[in-house]
Amino acid sequence: MKKICALLMALLLSLSAGCGTIDPDEAQESIQVIAMDTAMIFTAYGVNSTKADYAAEEEVYRLEAMLSRTDEESQVARLNSQGTADIDAELWGLIETAMAYSEATGGAFDITVAPVLLAWGFTTDEYQVPSQAELEALLPAVGAEHIRCLGENADATVTVELDPGTQIDLGAIGKGYASDRVAAIFEEYEIPRGLIRLGGSVLAIGDRPDGEAWRVGIQDPRDPDNAEAFAAVLNLTDAYAVTSGSYQRYFEQDGKRYHHIIDPATGYPADSGLTSVTVVTDGTQGNGTLCDALSTALFVMEEEQALDFWRSDVYDFQLVLVTEDGRVVVTDGLTDELTKVEGNGYTYETVS
Ligand code: AMP
Ligand code: MG
Repeated sequence: MKKICALLMALLLSLSAGCGTIDPDEAQESIQVIAMDTAMIFTAYGVNSTKADYAAEEEVYRLEAMLSRTDEESQVARLNSQGTADIDAELWGLIETAMAYSEATGGAFDITVAPVLLAWGFTTDEYQVPSQAELEALLPAVGAEHIRCLGENADATVTVELDPGTQIDLGAIGKGYASDRVAAIFEEYEIPRGLIRLGGSVLAIGDRPDGEAWRVGIQDPRDPDNAEAFAAVLNLTDAYAVTSGSYQRYFEQDGKRYHHIIDPATGYPADSGLTSVTVVTDGTQGNGTLCDALSTALFVMEEEQALDFWRSDVYDFQLVLVTEDGRVVVTDGLTDELTKVEGNGYTYETVS
């Protein structure tokens, strides 16, 4: 009897869903996914929210299996270890995109910084400070010109070759690309609103059910372990926001702190006077990848160089820089979306 009641209830529920009586603002699914070394949260609204979230979860696992440097089976790991490999056209497309961002940022963003990351132990979590001689021996193999496409194959793969000593690491662009892929899935499932968080990469879709913008906090780099400590809060609707920060990954040796964003010109952690860079764009697909590449690149640059890059209008984006000396610098296209946080010790500046 119980079983029949349950069946009837299920039938009634599915019928009412079919008749569209479920308020899309009420139907909501939120799942946590651990992938790409990152805690991700996918929050979707609408009648397809559950299906969309699980499809998104599958997609980030697929991308992780393709992009991982530590999983020996991944296409990236195979290319790195063999020096040449047939890789999916999709992966080649992402590598080409990364090479274009390298060129646009004067090499501040560079996926071929991989051997240097390995020398510092950021790939394996076995941290150490490499010697100057070791870094100097690695730097000649760093540079996008060391990656070559040898041809496209009938099975939709591309043969790629790396110069001896060159390796690639897509860690600075992979989560942004994943956010673009999740956005595509959410669109397929007609998700009207939601919030996708892949660590420091966020995509706000639509607005909140109460009609307000999504609130996205920019972590206070001075207080990284306190999830409630913000340098500022962004109010976002249909927008990507990606933050790179020295607080996100680092180790200490002999009282000195070494973080994970490397200046490809020197092989050392970037010393730009910035503690975090947040790049914000509208929600156009592809912008997740752009924001991720630029947040890393602009972190490597100094404040004025980063602002000049913004002013150059090569790409359409806005910026929030947090500086070592306690300033939050926001570009003028984003001031209306930024809420200051009282009492956090920062001063706020708008630049144009
Ligand atoms: P993100 O958090 O997006 O800024 O990416 C940082 C990660 O990208 C690091 O953990 C490294 O794996 C890698 N990386 C570090 N420096 C660079 C760089 N200059 N260009 C490209 N990737 C980098
Ligand atoms: Mg990045």
